[in-house]
Amino acid sequence: MKSYDVAIIGSGPGGYVAAIRCAQLGMKTALIEKYSTLGGTCLNVGCIPSKALLSSSHHYEEATKHFEEHGIEIPGEIKVNLEKMIARKQAVVDQTTGGIDFLMKKNNIDVFEGLGSFKDATHIKIEGKDAGEIEAKNTIIATGSKPSNLPFINIDKERVITSTEALKLKEIPKHLMIIGGGVIGLELGQVYKRLGAEVTVIEYMDRILPTMDAGLSKELNKVFKKAKCKMMMSHKVTAVERKGDEVIIKAEDKKGNEVEFKGDYCLVSVGRRPYTDGLNAEAAGVKINDRGQVDVNEHLQTSASNIYAIGDVVRGAMLAHKAEEEGVFVAETLAGQKPHIDYNLIPGVVYTWPEVAAVGKTEEELQEDKVAYKVGQFPFRALGRARASGDIDGFVKILADEKTDEVLGVHMIGARCADLIAEAVTAMEFRASAEDISRYSHAHPTFAEAIKEAALAATEDRALHI
Ligand code: FAD
Repeated sequence: MKSYDVAIIGSGPGGYVAAIRCAQLGMKTALIEKYSTLGGTCLNVGCIPSKALLSSSHHYEEATKHFEEHGIEIPGEIKVNLEKMIARKQAVVDQTTGGIDFLMKKNNIDVFEGLGSFKDATHIKIEGKDAGEIEAKNTIIATGSKPSNLPFINIDKERVITSTEALKLKEIPKHLMIIGGGVIGLELGQVYKRLGAEVTVIEYMDRILPTMDAGLSKELNKVFKKAKCKMMMSHKVTAVERKGDEVIIKAEDKKGNEVEFKGDYCLVSVGRRPYTDGLNAEAAGVKINDRGQVDVNEHLQTSASNIYAIGDVVRGAMLAHKAEEEGVFVAETLAGQKPHIDYNLIPGVVYTWPEVAAVGKTEEELQEDKVAYKVGQFPFRALGRARASGDIDGFVKILADEKTDEVLGVHMIGARCADLIAEAVTAMEFRASAEDISRYSHAHPTFAEAIKEAALAATEDRALHI
Protein backbone atom coordinates (compact mmCIF):
# COMPACT_ATOMS: atom_id res chain seq x y z
CA MET A 1 0.00 0.00 0.00
CA LYS A 2 1.31 3.45 -0.91
CA SER A 3 1.86 5.79 1.97
CA TYR A 4 1.73 9.62 1.91
CA ASP A 5 2.42 12.57 4.19
CA VAL A 6 -0.82 14.10 2.95
CA ALA A 7 -3.78 12.97 0.85
CA ILE A 8 -6.23 15.47 -0.56
CA ILE A 9 -9.75 14.42 -1.50
CA GLY A 10 -11.16 16.65 -4.27
CA SER A 11 -9.26 18.53 -6.98
CA GLY A 12 -11.12 21.87 -7.10
CA PRO A 13 -9.30 25.17 -6.48
CA GLY A 14 -9.08 24.25 -2.80
CA GLY A 15 -7.72 20.75 -3.33
CA TYR A 16 -5.31 21.21 -6.21
CA VAL A 17 -3.80 24.39 -4.73
CA ALA A 18 -3.38 22.62 -1.36
CA ALA A 19 -1.65 19.76 -3.21
CA ILE A 20 0.81 22.10 -4.94
CA ARG A 21 1.66 23.96 -1.72
CA CYS A 22 2.10 20.67 0.21
CA ALA A 23 4.45 19.40 -2.51
CA GLN A 24 6.37 22.70 -2.53
CA LEU A 25 6.87 22.27 1.22
CA GLY A 26 8.39 18.83 0.71
CA MET A 27 5.45 16.58 1.60
CA LYS A 28 4.75 13.37 -0.29
CA THR A 29 1.33 14.22 -1.69
CA ALA A 30 -1.62 12.34 -3.20
CA LEU A 31 -4.66 13.92 -4.86
CA ILE A 32 -7.89 11.92 -5.27
CA GLU A 33 -10.59 13.05 -7.73
CA LYS A 34 -13.69 11.11 -8.69
CA TYR A 35 -14.02 12.70 -12.14
CA SER A 36 -11.61 12.16 -15.02
CA THR A 37 -10.74 15.87 -15.23
CA LEU A 38 -9.14 17.89 -12.46
CA GLY A 39 -10.19 21.37 -11.36
CA GLY A 40 -13.52 20.70 -9.62
CA THR A 41 -16.60 22.84 -9.96
CA CYS A 42 -14.67 26.01 -10.70
CA LEU A 43 -12.78 24.85 -13.76
CA ASN A 44 -15.30 22.36 -15.16
CA VAL A 45 -18.78 23.77 -14.47
CA GLY A 46 -18.27 27.03 -12.57
CA CYS A 47 -15.99 30.06 -12.75
CA ILE A 48 -14.20 29.33 -16.01
CA PRO A 49 -17.02 28.12 -18.32
CA SER A 50 -19.40 30.81 -17.04
CA LYS A 51 -16.80 33.51 -17.75
CA ALA A 52 -16.18 32.06 -21.22
CA LEU A 53 -19.91 32.36 -22.04
CA LEU A 54 -20.11 35.81 -20.44
CA SER A 55 -17.24 36.95 -22.66
CA SER A 56 -18.71 35.45 -25.85
CA SER A 57 -22.17 36.88 -25.21
CA HIS A 58 -20.63 40.25 -24.32
CA HIS A 59 -18.85 40.33 -27.71
CA TYR A 60 -22.17 39.56 -29.39
CA GLU A 61 -23.94 42.35 -27.54
CA GLU A 62 -21.16 44.79 -28.38
CA ALA A 63 -21.34 43.81 -32.06
CA THR A 64 -25.12 44.07 -32.27
CA LYS A 65 -25.73 47.10 -30.03
CA HIS A 66 -22.60 49.19 -29.66
CA PHE A 67 -20.31 48.80 -32.69
CA GLU A 68 -22.39 51.24 -34.69
CA GLU A 69 -21.91 54.11 -32.24
CA HIS A 70 -18.14 53.51 -32.54
CA GLY A 71 -18.41 53.86 -36.32
CA ILE A 72 -18.07 50.16 -37.04
CA GLU A 73 -20.55 48.88 -39.59
CA ILE A 74 -21.01 45.20 -40.26
CA PRO A 75 -22.91 44.54 -43.47
CA GLY A 76 -25.43 41.71 -43.15
CA GLU A 77 -26.93 40.06 -40.11
CA ILE A 78 -24.84 39.22 -37.06
CA LYS A 79 -25.83 35.77 -35.83
CA VAL A 80 -25.15 33.60 -32.83
CA ASN A 81 -23.81 30.11 -33.43
CA LEU A 82 -24.58 28.63 -30.01
CA GLU A 83 -23.01 25.27 -30.80
CA LYS A 84 -19.72 26.97 -31.64
CA MET A 85 -19.94 29.24 -28.59
CA ILE A 86 -20.43 26.22 -26.30
CA ALA A 87 -17.62 24.34 -28.09
CA ARG A 88 -15.26 27.30 -27.53
CA LYS A 89 -16.23 27.33 -23.86
CA GLN A 90 -15.41 23.62 -23.66
CA ALA A 91 -12.05 24.19 -25.34
CA VAL A 92 -11.22 26.85 -22.73
CA VAL A 93 -12.23 24.41 -19.97
CA ASP A 94 -10.18 21.56 -21.49
CA GLN A 95 -7.10 23.74 -21.81
CA THR A 96 -7.45 24.93 -18.23
CA THR A 97 -8.01 21.48 -16.69
CA GLY A 98 -5.14 20.15 -18.82
CA GLY A 99 -3.00 22.84 -17.18
CA ILE A 100 -3.76 21.32 -13.77
CA ASP A 101 -2.59 17.87 -15.01
CA PHE A 102 0.69 19.54 -15.97
CA LEU A 103 1.03 21.22 -12.57
CA MET A 104 0.43 17.93 -10.74
CA LYS A 105 3.17 16.21 -12.77
CA LYS A 106 5.55 19.15 -12.35
CA ASN A 107 5.13 18.97 -8.56
CA ASN A 108 5.39 15.15 -8.39
CA ILE A 109 1.89 14.77 -6.98
CA ASP A 110 0.32 11.31 -7.38
CA VAL A 111 -3.17 11.68 -8.83
CA PHE A 112 -5.78 8.93 -8.27
CA GLU A 113 -9.00 8.90 -10.26
CA GLY A 114 -11.86 7.52 -8.20
CA LEU A 115 -14.19 8.20 -5.29
CA GLY A 116 -12.24 8.58 -2.06
CA SER A 117 -13.81 7.33 1.17
CA PHE A 118 -12.39 6.95 4.66
CA LYS A 119 -11.77 3.47 6.03
CA ASP A 120 -10.42 5.10 9.18
CA ALA A 121 -8.52 8.29 10.03
CA THR A 122 -5.37 7.25 8.14
CA HIS A 123 -6.65 4.98 5.35
CA ILE A 124 -8.57 5.99 2.25
CA LYS A 125 -10.27 3.61 -0.10
CA ILE A 126 -10.41 4.60 -3.78
CA GLU A 127 -13.21 3.25 -5.99
CA GLY A 128 -13.04 3.84 -9.73
CA LYS A 129 -10.32 3.85 -12.37
CA ASP A 130 -7.42 3.84 -9.88
CA ALA A 131 -9.16 1.56 -7.36
CA GLY A 132 -7.18 0.62 -4.26
CA GLU A 133 -6.23 1.93 -0.86
CA ILE A 134 -3.68 4.45 0.34
CA GLU A 135 -2.36 5.43 3.72
CA ALA A 136 -2.03 9.11 4.68
CA LYS A 137 -0.63 10.69 7.83
CA ASN A 138 -2.82 13.73 7.18
CA THR A 139 -5.83 14.25 4.93
CA ILE A 140 -7.41 17.41 3.55
CA ILE A 141 -11.10 17.15 2.64
CA ALA A 142 -11.80 19.44 -0.34
CA THR A 143 -14.94 17.84 -1.70
CA GLY A 144 -16.67 21.13 -2.54
CA SER A 145 -20.35 21.63 -3.23
CA LYS A 146 -23.25 20.79 -5.55
CA PRO A 147 -26.25 22.93 -6.61
CA SER A 148 -28.98 22.95 -3.97
CA ASN A 149 -32.67 22.71 -4.68
CA LEU A 150 -36.05 23.46 -3.13
CA PRO A 151 -37.70 20.30 -1.81
CA PHE A 152 -40.70 20.47 -4.18
CA ILE A 153 -38.74 21.04 -7.41
CA ASN A 154 -37.89 18.15 -9.70
CA ILE A 155 -34.73 19.15 -11.57
CA ASP A 156 -35.08 17.10 -14.77
CA LYS A 157 -31.88 18.60 -16.28
CA GLU A 158 -33.72 19.23 -19.58
CA ARG A 159 -36.11 22.10 -18.96
CA VAL A 160 -35.77 22.51 -15.21
CA ILE A 161 -32.01 22.90 -14.91
CA THR A 162 -29.10 23.92 -12.70
CA SER A 163 -26.09 26.04 -13.68
CA THR A 164 -24.33 22.88 -14.90
CA GLU A 165 -26.90 22.32 -17.68
CA ALA A 166 -27.22 26.06 -18.37
CA LEU A 167 -23.56 26.03 -19.41
CA LYS A 168 -24.24 23.58 -22.25
CA LEU A 169 -27.71 24.30 -23.63
CA LYS A 170 -28.39 23.23 -27.21
CA GLU A 171 -30.71 26.15 -27.97
CA ILE A 172 -31.23 29.69 -26.77
CA PRO A 173 -34.29 29.65 -24.49
CA LYS A 174 -37.25 31.70 -25.62
CA HIS A 175 -38.05 32.53 -22.01
CA LEU A 176 -35.57 31.62 -19.30
CA MET A 177 -37.07 31.86 -15.84
CA ILE A 178 -34.50 32.03 -13.07
CA ILE A 179 -35.32 31.11 -9.49
CA GLY A 180 -32.82 33.02 -7.33
CA GLY A 181 -31.30 36.46 -7.91
CA GLY A 182 -27.82 35.59 -6.64
CA VAL A 183 -24.49 35.69 -8.47
CA ILE A 184 -24.86 32.51 -10.55
CA GLY A 185 -28.46 33.22 -11.63
CA LEU A 186 -27.66 36.78 -12.65
CA GLU A 187 -24.50 35.87 -14.59
CA LEU A 188 -26.24 33.13 -16.57
CA GLY A 189 -29.36 35.26 -16.97
CA GLN A 190 -27.28 37.97 -18.56
CA VAL A 191 -25.62 35.47 -20.93
CA TYR A 192 -28.97 34.29 -22.33
CA LYS A 193 -30.56 37.76 -22.29
CA ARG A 194 -27.73 39.01 -24.50
CA LEU A 195 -28.23 36.04 -26.82
CA GLY A 196 -31.91 36.93 -27.27
CA ALA A 197 -33.88 35.10 -24.55
CA GLU A 198 -36.60 36.75 -22.55
CA VAL A 199 -35.41 36.57 -18.92
CA THR A 200 -37.40 36.64 -15.66
CA VAL A 201 -35.61 36.63 -12.31
CA ILE A 202 -37.74 35.47 -9.37
CA GLU A 203 -36.19 36.26 -5.98
CA TYR A 204 -37.53 35.48 -2.48
CA MET A 205 -35.78 38.45 -0.81
CA ASP A 206 -36.66 42.06 -1.56
CA ARG A 207 -33.51 42.60 -3.67
CA ILE A 208 -31.05 40.79 -5.89
CA LEU A 209 -27.60 40.02 -4.43
CA PRO A 210 -29.08 40.17 -0.92
CA THR A 211 -25.73 39.71 0.84
CA MET A 212 -23.99 42.58 -0.95
CA ASP A 213 -24.25 46.31 -0.20
CA ALA A 214 -27.79 47.47 -1.04
CA GLY A 215 -26.43 50.25 -3.29
CA LEU A 216 -24.90 47.64 -5.61
CA SER A 217 -28.13 45.59 -5.74
CA LYS A 218 -30.10 48.68 -6.67
CA GLU A 219 -27.72 49.73 -9.45
CA LEU A 220 -27.47 46.23 -10.98
CA ASN A 221 -31.25 45.85 -10.77
CA LYS A 222 -31.54 49.05 -12.83
CA VAL A 223 -29.16 47.61 -15.45
CA PHE A 224 -31.19 44.38 -15.72
CA LYS A 225 -34.46 46.31 -15.96
CA LYS A 226 -32.99 48.57 -18.64
CA ALA A 227 -32.13 45.41 -20.59
CA LYS A 228 -35.83 44.44 -20.24
CA CYS A 229 -35.37 41.55 -17.83
CA LYS A 230 -38.37 41.05 -15.55
CA MET A 231 -37.16 41.40 -11.96
CA MET A 232 -39.71 39.86 -9.56
CA MET A 233 -38.53 40.54 -6.00
CA SER A 234 -40.27 39.32 -2.79
CA HIS A 235 -41.75 36.33 -4.63
CA LYS A 236 -41.85 32.96 -2.93
CA VAL A 237 -41.85 30.11 -5.44
CA THR A 238 -44.34 27.43 -4.35
CA ALA A 239 -44.40 25.03 -7.32
CA VAL A 240 -42.59 24.24 -10.57
CA GLU A 241 -44.41 22.05 -13.10
CA ARG A 242 -43.36 20.82 -16.49
CA LYS A 243 -45.94 20.32 -19.27
CA GLY A 244 -44.18 19.10 -22.41
CA ASP A 245 -41.74 21.81 -23.41
CA GLU A 246 -43.36 24.35 -21.12
CA VAL A 247 -42.43 25.05 -17.52
CA ILE A 248 -44.90 26.74 -15.17
CA ILE A 249 -43.73 28.39 -11.98
CA LYS A 250 -46.21 29.30 -9.27
CA ALA A 251 -45.21 31.89 -6.71
CA GLU A 252 -46.71 34.03 -3.96
CA ASP A 253 -46.07 37.77 -4.14
CA LYS A 254 -45.59 39.83 -0.98
CA LYS A 255 -49.33 40.41 -0.63
CA GLY A 256 -49.93 36.65 -0.68
CA ASN A 257 -51.42 36.63 -4.20
CA GLU A 258 -50.62 33.65 -6.40
CA VAL A 259 -48.65 34.57 -9.52
CA GLU A 260 -47.80 32.31 -12.45
CA PHE A 261 -44.84 32.44 -14.84
CA LYS A 262 -44.58 30.40 -18.03
CA GLY A 263 -41.44 29.76 -20.04
CA ASP A 264 -39.50 27.04 -21.84
CA TYR A 265 -36.60 26.78 -19.34
CA CYS A 266 -36.33 27.22 -15.58
CA LEU A 267 -32.89 27.69 -14.03
CA VAL A 268 -32.87 26.81 -10.36
CA SER A 269 -30.07 28.84 -8.76
CA VAL A 270 -30.92 28.90 -5.09
CA GLY A 271 -27.41 28.35 -3.78
CA ARG A 272 -25.09 25.41 -3.33
CA ARG A 273 -24.84 22.72 -0.67
CA PRO A 274 -21.66 21.30 0.81
CA TYR A 275 -20.88 17.88 -0.67
CA THR A 276 -19.76 14.92 1.44
CA ASP A 277 -21.73 12.08 -0.21
CA GLY A 278 -19.79 8.82 -0.26
CA LEU A 279 -16.93 10.21 1.85
CA ASN A 280 -17.73 8.03 4.85
CA ALA A 281 -16.54 10.82 7.15
CA GLU A 282 -17.87 9.09 10.30
CA ALA A 283 -15.39 6.22 9.88
CA ALA A 284 -12.57 8.74 10.41
CA GLY A 285 -14.32 10.53 13.29
CA VAL A 286 -15.00 13.63 11.17
CA LYS A 287 -18.15 15.50 12.26
CA ILE A 288 -20.58 16.92 9.72
CA ASN A 289 -22.78 19.72 11.12
CA ASP A 290 -26.52 20.12 10.61
CA ARG A 291 -25.90 22.39 7.58
CA GLY A 292 -24.05 19.53 5.91
CA GLN A 293 -20.66 21.24 6.28
CA VAL A 294 -17.56 19.55 7.63
CA ASP A 295 -17.08 21.13 11.07
CA VAL A 296 -13.69 22.85 11.46
CA ASN A 297 -11.91 24.94 14.09
CA GLU A 298 -9.94 28.15 13.38
CA HIS A 299 -7.06 26.03 12.01
CA LEU A 300 -9.47 24.31 9.57
CA GLN A 301 -8.93 21.12 11.56
CA THR A 302 -11.87 18.72 11.80
CA SER A 303 -12.93 16.69 14.84
CA ALA A 304 -10.22 14.19 13.79
CA SER A 305 -6.90 15.93 14.58
CA ASN A 306 -5.00 14.73 11.46
CA ILE A 307 -7.84 15.63 9.06
CA TYR A 308 -8.49 19.14 7.76
CA ALA A 309 -11.20 20.53 5.49
CA ILE A 310 -11.26 23.53 3.15
CA GLY A 311 -13.33 25.36 0.52
CA ASP A 312 -17.05 25.07 -0.19
CA VAL A 313 -17.43 22.06 2.11
CA VAL A 314 -16.69 24.21 5.21
CA ARG A 315 -18.26 27.42 6.57
CA GLY A 316 -17.80 30.75 4.84
CA ALA A 317 -18.11 32.20 1.34
CA MET A 318 -18.38 29.64 -1.47
CA LEU A 319 -15.69 31.17 -3.65
CA ALA A 320 -12.75 29.71 -5.52
CA HIS A 321 -10.18 32.17 -4.13
CA LYS A 322 -11.39 31.53 -0.56
CA ALA A 323 -10.89 27.79 -1.17
CA GLU A 324 -7.39 28.48 -2.55
CA GLU A 325 -6.39 30.59 0.46
CA GLU A 326 -7.58 27.81 2.74
CA GLY A 327 -5.64 25.20 0.75
CA VAL A 328 -2.41 27.15 1.23
CA PHE A 329 -3.28 27.79 4.89
CA VAL A 330 -3.63 24.08 5.70
CA ALA A 331 -0.49 23.09 3.75
CA GLU A 332 1.54 25.69 5.65
CA THR A 333 -0.02 24.66 8.97
CA LEU A 334 1.00 21.03 8.29
CA ALA A 335 4.53 22.27 7.59
CA GLY A 336 4.63 23.89 11.03
CA GLN A 337 4.15 27.47 9.82
CA LYS A 338 1.69 29.98 11.28
CA PRO A 339 -0.38 31.21 8.30
CA HIS A 340 -3.24 33.68 8.50
CA ILE A 341 -6.42 34.38 6.52
CA ASP A 342 -8.41 37.59 6.97
CA TYR A 343 -11.91 36.44 5.95
CA ASN A 344 -13.09 40.07 5.99
CA LEU A 345 -10.77 40.71 3.04
CA ILE A 346 -12.00 37.97 0.70
CA PRO A 347 -13.48 39.96 -2.20
CA GLY A 348 -16.82 39.05 -3.79
CA VAL A 349 -17.33 39.58 -7.51
CA VAL A 350 -20.25 39.31 -9.94
CA TYR A 351 -19.10 39.06 -13.57
CA THR A 352 -22.11 40.69 -15.16
CA TRP A 353 -21.54 43.84 -17.19
CA PRO A 354 -21.16 46.20 -15.49
CA GLU A 355 -19.16 44.06 -13.07
CA VAL A 356 -19.91 44.20 -9.36
CA ALA A 357 -17.20 43.81 -6.73
CA ALA A 358 -16.87 44.35 -3.03
CA VAL A 359 -14.61 43.81 -0.05
CA GLY A 360 -15.01 44.49 3.67
CA LYS A 361 -18.11 45.68 5.46
CA THR A 362 -21.33 46.81 3.79
CA GLU A 363 -23.21 49.91 4.97
CA GLU A 364 -25.88 47.61 6.41
CA GLU A 365 -23.28 45.70 8.47
CA LEU A 366 -21.66 48.88 9.78
CA GLN A 367 -25.06 50.24 10.81
CA GLU A 368 -25.90 46.99 12.55
CA ASP A 369 -22.52 47.03 14.37
CA LYS A 370 -23.13 50.72 15.28
CA VAL A 371 -19.84 51.83 13.71
CA ALA A 372 -19.67 55.53 12.81
CA TYR A 373 -18.57 55.74 9.18
CA LYS A 374 -18.36 58.17 6.29
CA VAL A 375 -19.06 57.53 2.63
CA GLY A 376 -17.17 58.66 -0.46
CA GLN A 377 -18.85 57.81 -3.76
CA PHE A 378 -17.82 58.58 -7.31
CA PRO A 379 -19.71 57.76 -10.53
CA PHE A 380 -17.86 56.24 -13.50
CA ARG A 381 -19.71 58.59 -15.88
CA ALA A 382 -17.53 61.46 -14.61
CA LEU A 383 -14.35 59.73 -15.84
CA GLY A 384 -12.79 60.41 -19.24
CA ARG A 385 -11.80 56.75 -19.60
CA ALA A 386 -15.38 55.57 -19.02
CA ARG A 387 -16.73 58.00 -21.60
CA ALA A 388 -14.04 57.03 -24.11
CA SER A 389 -15.10 53.39 -24.04
CA GLY A 390 -18.80 54.07 -23.50
CA ASP A 391 -18.95 52.22 -20.17
CA ILE A 392 -20.44 54.91 -17.99
CA ASP A 393 -22.74 52.92 -15.69
CA GLY A 394 -21.87 52.47 -12.03
CA PHE A 395 -19.83 53.93 -9.19
CA VAL A 396 -17.19 53.27 -6.55
CA LYS A 397 -18.20 53.66 -2.92
CA ILE A 398 -15.66 53.78 -0.10
CA LEU A 399 -16.73 53.43 3.52
CA ALA A 400 -14.22 54.76 6.03
CA ASP A 401 -14.19 55.00 9.82
CA GLU A 402 -15.60 58.38 10.86
CA LYS A 403 -12.79 59.01 13.37
CA THR A 404 -9.69 57.17 12.11
CA ASP A 405 -10.42 57.36 8.33
CA GLU A 406 -9.46 53.65 8.01
CA VAL A 407 -11.13 52.05 4.99
CA LEU A 408 -13.76 49.57 6.22
CA GLY A 409 -15.42 48.55 2.97
CA VAL A 410 -15.22 49.21 -0.76
CA HIS A 411 -18.20 48.52 -3.03
CA MET A 412 -18.14 49.07 -6.75
CA ILE A 413 -20.17 48.45 -9.86
CA GLY A 414 -18.86 49.33 -13.29
CA ALA A 415 -16.53 48.30 -16.09
CA ARG A 416 -13.54 46.21 -14.96
CA CYS A 417 -14.52 46.26 -11.27
CA ALA A 418 -13.62 42.55 -10.98
CA ASP A 419 -9.99 43.62 -11.43
CA LEU A 420 -10.22 47.03 -9.76
CA ILE A 421 -11.26 45.46 -6.45
CA ALA A 422 -7.67 44.17 -6.03
CA GLU A 423 -6.57 47.73 -5.25
CA ALA A 424 -9.14 47.96 -2.47
CA VAL A 425 -8.05 44.59 -1.03
CA THR A 426 -4.40 45.68 -1.05
CA ALA A 427 -5.23 49.00 0.61
CA MET A 428 -7.32 47.32 3.30
CA GLU A 429 -4.73 44.57 3.88
CA PHE A 430 -2.26 47.34 4.75
CA ARG A 431 -4.96 49.14 6.77
CA ALA A 432 -4.92 52.22 4.55
CA SER A 433 -7.00 55.27 5.33
CA ALA A 434 -9.18 56.85 2.65
CA GLU A 435 -6.68 59.71 2.56
CA ASP A 436 -3.81 57.26 1.89
CA ILE A 437 -5.60 56.03 -1.26
CA SER A 438 -6.39 59.58 -2.33
CA ARG A 439 -2.70 60.55 -2.12
CA TYR A 440 -1.11 57.94 -4.37
CA SER A 441 -1.00 58.40 -8.09
CA HIS A 442 -3.50 56.66 -10.38
CA ALA A 443 -2.71 56.57 -14.10
CA HIS A 444 -4.87 58.78 -16.28
CA PRO A 445 -7.14 57.98 -18.00
CA THR A 446 -8.14 54.76 -16.21
CA PHE A 447 -11.20 53.30 -14.52
CA ALA A 448 -9.05 53.10 -11.37
CA GLU A 449 -9.26 56.88 -11.04
CA ALA A 450 -12.79 56.32 -9.68
CA ILE A 451 -11.19 54.70 -6.61
CA LYS A 452 -8.95 57.70 -6.01
CA GLU A 453 -11.88 60.09 -6.50
CA ALA A 454 -14.12 58.07 -4.13
CA ALA A 455 -11.28 58.15 -1.58
CA LEU A 456 -10.99 61.92 -2.02
CA ALA A 457 -14.76 62.20 -1.54
CA ALA A 458 -14.53 60.11 1.66
CA THR A 459 -11.61 62.14 3.01
CA GLU A 460 -13.02 65.65 3.13
CA ASP A 461 -15.48 65.67 0.28
CA ARG A 462 -12.53 66.61 -1.97
CA ALA A 463 -13.38 64.74 -5.20
CA LEU A 464 -11.86 66.70 -8.08
CA HIS A 465 -13.98 65.75 -11.06
CA ILE A 466 -17.53 66.08 -9.79
P1 FAD B 1 -15.00 22.12 -5.89
O1 FAD B 1 -14.49 23.03 -6.92
O2 FAD B 1 -16.47 21.87 -5.85
O3 FAD B 1 -14.23 20.74 -6.08
C1 FAD B 1 -14.52 19.62 -5.33
C2 FAD B 1 -14.03 18.40 -6.08
O4 FAD B 1 -14.08 17.28 -5.22
C3 FAD B 1 -14.88 18.03 -7.29
O5 FAD B 1 -14.07 17.88 -8.42
C4 FAD B 1 -15.52 16.69 -6.89
O6 FAD B 1 -15.71 15.83 -7.98
C5 FAD B 1 -14.47 16.14 -5.94
N1 FAD B 1 -15.01 15.17 -4.99
C6 FAD B 1 -16.06 15.31 -4.16
N2 FAD B 1 -16.18 14.22 -3.37
C7 FAD B 1 -15.18 13.38 -3.70
C8 FAD B 1 -14.77 12.12 -3.23
N3 FAD B 1 -15.37 11.53 -2.20
N4 FAD B 1 -13.70 11.54 -3.81
C9 FAD B 1 -13.04 12.14 -4.83
N5 FAD B 1 -13.38 13.36 -5.31
C10 FAD B 1 -14.43 13.98 -4.75
N6 FAD B 1 -16.28 31.22 -7.53
C11 FAD B 1 -15.49 32.29 -7.71
O7 FAD B 1 -14.65 32.59 -6.84
N7 FAD B 1 -15.57 33.06 -8.85
C12 FAD B 1 -16.47 32.78 -9.82
O8 FAD B 1 -16.52 33.49 -10.84
C13 FAD B 1 -17.33 31.67 -9.66
N8 FAD B 1 -18.23 31.37 -10.61
C14 FAD B 1 -19.02 30.27 -10.45
C15 FAD B 1 -19.96 29.97 -11.43
C16 FAD B 1 -20.77 28.87 -11.32
C17 FAD B 1 -21.76 28.54 -12.40
C18 FAD B 1 -20.63 28.01 -10.17
C19 FAD B 1 -21.46 26.79 -10.03
C20 FAD B 1 -19.71 28.31 -9.18
C21 FAD B 1 -18.90 29.44 -9.30
N9 FAD B 1 -17.98 29.78 -8.31
C22 FAD B 1 -17.19 30.89 -8.48
C23 FAD B 1 -17.81 28.99 -7.07
C24 FAD B 1 -16.58 28.09 -7.17
O9 FAD B 1 -16.72 27.24 -8.28
C25 FAD B 1 -16.43 27.28 -5.89
O10 FAD B 1 -16.40 28.16 -4.78
C26 FAD B 1 -15.14 26.48 -5.91
O11 FAD B 1 -15.10 25.59 -6.99
C27 FAD B 1 -14.97 25.69 -4.60
O12 FAD B 1 -13.79 24.98 -4.66
P2 FAD B 1 -13.58 23.66 -3.81
O13 FAD B 1 -12.17 23.24 -4.08
O14 FAD B 1 -14.00 23.85 -2.42
O15 FAD B 1 -14.61 22.57 -4.42
